Amino acid sequence: MRIIICAGTGCLAGGSLNIFHAFKAEAQKHGVPLHVELKQEDNPEFLLSKSGCQGFCQVGPLVTIEPAGILYTKVTAEDVPEIFETTILSGKTVERLLYVNPADGKRCSGPSDIPFYVRQSRSVLASCGLIDPENIREYIYGGGYRAAMEAYTAHTPEELCTIFTDSGLRGRGGGGFPSGKKWALTLRQQADKKYLICNGDEGDPGAFMDRSILEGNPHSVVEGMMIAARAIGAEAGYVYVRAEYPLAVERIRKAIDAARELGLLGEDLFGTGACFDIKVMEGAGAFVCGEASAMVASIMGGRGMPRPKPPRTAEKGLWDKPTVVNNVETLATVPLVLRKGSKGYRTVGTSGSPGTKTFALTGHVANTGLIEVPFGTTLREIIFEIGGGVLDEKGNVDNDAFKAVQIGGPSGGCLTREHLDIPLDFDSLGGIGAMVGSGGLVVMNRSTCMVQVARFFMQFTQAESCGKCVPCREGTRQMLDLLDDIIEGRADESTIPLLESLCRTVARGSLCGLGKAAPSPVLSTLRYFRQEYESHVVDKR
Ligand code: SF4
Repeated sequence: MRIIICAGTGCLAGGSLNIFHAFKAEAQKHGVPLHVELKQEDNPEFLLSKSGCQGFCQVGPLVTIEPAGILYTKVTAEDVPEIFETTILSGKTVERLLYVNPADGKRCSGPSDIPFYVRQSRSVLASCGLIDPENIREYIYGGGYRAAMEAYTAHTPEELCTIFTDSGLRGRGGGGFPSGKKWALTLRQQADKKYLICNGDEGDPGAFMDRSILEGNPHSVVEGMMIAARAIGAEAGYVYVRAEYPLAVERIRKAIDAARELGLLGEDLFGTGACFDIKVMEGAGAFVCGEASAMVASIMGGRGMPRPKPPRTAEKGLWDKPTVVNNVETLATVPLVLRKGSKGYRTVGTSGSPGTKTFALTGHVANTGLIEVPFGTTLREIIFEIGGGVLDEKGNVDNDAFKAVQIGGPSGGCLTREHLDIPLDFDSLGGIGAMVGSGGLVVMNRSTCMVQVARFFMQFTQAESCGKCVPCREGTRQMLDLLDDIIEGRADESTIPLLESLCRTVARGSLCGLGKAAPSPVLSTLRYFRQEYESHVVDKR
């Protein structure tokens, strides 16, 4: 029997470490030999382990009992004696700790009947919440590092680039650029050294997908980096992760050390003579350092500022050498693609956006948390089924209260009721002026002022502008002032046209994606909720 305590950031904040220690104490009290680490020679009857984020943060701290498939929610250390006696020793269920489905009031025993999980398709997140992220053996027992071995022993770099191009894997960091093509471009560059960077500088408000993967399954990222490095011919890699994610930093460091100890990183990988190793760099929290050229500058010890392109980082990156920058989720997906093959990978998702995508579902929704769905899933399914519906002003589920959802963070835009049935994939969203972005989904009910939403994101972007180019540095400041004027009743009939004109100037004249996309929240809220802007102006007259 295995007792899995969720040790994702949300559950840790809710006291899950106390629960872990309470289980140890209870086992001692009852004389039950409870193992806390899976070793090669073990087949323990009782194993207690900490996992990464199990996703359902809304009802944490979570405790999972396997193989029974029981999920206990909102657990406290005081509940542990009852769980121990009832479930661990007697094989029965503590009913009061089971999740209650608000739709029908029924108790659910675990992920197999909780709608939040049932409607998902977890592959990148499949092991998050199940395995101990600090124990490399658990990753290996689940088939981990076999894809890396295949990459080094059975494929040439060219073959790998072809497999990944054929798979249609697209970067999960926002742009959706085909990963195989990026690798092939880098492989073609003539250079004595090439580099690989894992972009873990997740900074969108409301987004915590990369953090959860690094915390919950860091070996999937290490393995993905090994495969990507083989494909482009890199011998050195960096994980660039923000220092505000201390647990993610700690776990990826431990994963790299453990992989190195087993000879999976370093020299002569799998007896092929190939070398690859990884360093961790902590970013200081500048949002713009998520941009590839700014990240390269930051890793080299400079100020994190974007530079004009071309050349792209795939041609001239770290120390002017060809460098691939892939996001955490992309790299965690890489071993899955190789295991399934390019055709197998394409069986999920849409033809233009194969596979699955993780989203951080937050805001006015009954079930917040970390989810993973196939590309092509609709907002309606995500919000009303997985999310359990929209919360009204009193906190009750009322789907009529739905107003909008912000997708893609400060670079994205808002979608409304008319978009509920649009498939979420790179191309469909691009067609309506929105973007998948990194995967933040913030649901808003009818009490939300959309001008305030636009102001919130503009304030964020303005604060994060690196100041290198005038349209972004000054334009975002002016746009923020105009939004303040509108909200605080100082606007007149020239304010909204001026705001729109500035949006166009900033989008056209900014150097990097941060500035180019800064007007998106304003433009999309203006497009769908213009009357709210106008009502502020009218109120003044
Ligand atoms: Fe810096 Fe903004 Fe210019 Fe990007 S667009 S380089 S963030 S000032």
